[in-house]
Amino acid sequence: MTKWLLRCTKCNNTWFLEVSFDLTKLAEKRLYHYCPYCEKNTFHEVLERIEDEKVVAPNTDSK
Ligand SMILES: [Zn+2]
Repeated sequence: MTKWLLRCTKCNNTWFLEVSFDLTKLAEKRLYHYCPYCEKNTFHEVLERIEDEKVVAPNTDSK
């Protein structure tokens, strides 16, 4: 399972979301999702992808 580090643009808290789809494919790298801190749906910035405890930056080009 891939985890994503998200930052709520309302409260600026960061938290992890486990989803199987690739959030880097999102337009503007923003996700409208429920924020556990705001307790409502807000826009989130996608900061990092975490797979197997390894941090992978969303825009890293491995060339
Ligand atoms: Zn929030």
